[in-house]
Amino acid sequence: MLPYENLNQSNKSFFKDYQTKFNQFLEKGWFILGNEVAEFEKEFAQYSQSKHCIGVGNGLDALSIILKALAEKYDFSQNNNEKTEIIVPSNTYIATILAILQNGFKPVLVEPDIKTYNINPVEIEKAITPKTKAIMPVHLYGKVCQMDKIQEIATKYNLLIVEDAAQAHGANFNNQKAGSFGIANGFSFYPTKNLGALGDGGAITTNDSELNEIIRSLRNYGSSKKYYNEKIGYNSRLDELQATFLRIKLQKLDEINNHKRKLAKIYLENLKSDFILPVVEKNFHDVYHIFAIRHEKRNELKEFLLKNEIQTEIHYPIPPAEQKALEGVLDKTNFPIAKQVHQTILSLPISYCHTENDILRVIEVMNIF
Ligand SMILES: *Cc1c(COP(=O)(O)O)cnc(C)c1O
Repeated sequence: MLPYENLNQSNKSFFKDYQTKFNQFLEKGWFILGNEVAEFEKEFAQYSQSKHCIGVGNGLDALSIILKALAEKYDFSQNNNEKTEIIVPSNTYIATILAILQNGFKPVLVEPDIKTYNINPVEIEKAITPKTKAIMPVHLYGKVCQMDKIQEIATKYNLLIVEDAAQAHGANFNNQKAGSFGIANGFSFYPTKNLGALGDGGAITTNDSELNEIIRSLRNYGSSKKYYNEKIGYNSRLDELQATFLRIKLQKLDEINNHKRKLAKIYLENLKSDFILPVVEKNFHDVYHIFAIRHEKRNELKEFLLKNEIQTEIHYPIPPAEQKALEGVLDKTNFPIAKQVHQTILSLPISYCHTENDILRVIEVMNIF
């Protein structure tokens, strides 16, 4: 069976370094917010072309803490009938929407562009009301959103941008990296992400020194001086051990991304035209967290591949608006483009563990379908 992902295999080339550093970690005996987190924060800020990076517990917390910090700095005060509105894509992973709900704000879902699967700037503008405070573009599948247009809209209506860059470590648009466009931006280091830890992890990037201070306090019980609590905070710190592993992997992130880009190129050049392939556009450096194709007979295709010993995934089978958790939460529940994407999309193997021959095998079977 050709697996969709094999995390043991994908991490194998790092084992030796992981083990060496793990032994040092044991000897040191410093487990929370130590030197490894501090160094990783410096290195990841630099990698992501940002002034500051704050390590947190996971990607969801990153987004949730950002919104809480923004509400403090920019006064998102609201009464119950006048909830602060935040714009998100209708086909995102549910985490983006949960971060908004956790803060008591209202998620306003906007349809994606059917060609890129990223939020459609034209639709963003239509969804803006006097209650809108922020736009959360999600760089889905490792492709940066149309950030020039989104920034134009944000400037025009005086809105903040918060990137959900959980799928886009190292992706860029016009040579500007994901995680450097917004006022503050969230990353996840969930093990399957392009920069994956060996457990949960996340980070926030920002160029704003005041937000940096607020977020640092929020992730650590709302405290910047031990046992003095200024804010109602969270316990959401990037684990010292995960930071140790992440520092090793960060050095190879470009290599991981280039490997995925090389595999993507093989798909793009060899899959037959029956499949709707990811678009490749000038000035976009995509990192293919996911290689998603579309086909009207998606379910049969998935079955066919499985019969031929090839595992695939669906990102995602159910659009957020149709999730039980969001029943009665959203104003609008009809999102035909999101629905179409969710019904026809299929993720093909494209991991660091896969070889060019693996991809050629997938292509061979796909082209028979
Ligand atoms: C993975 C992911 C998240 C959440 O990350 P966790 O670390 O699992 O909390 C958020 N948004 C998107 C788009 C993701 O893919």
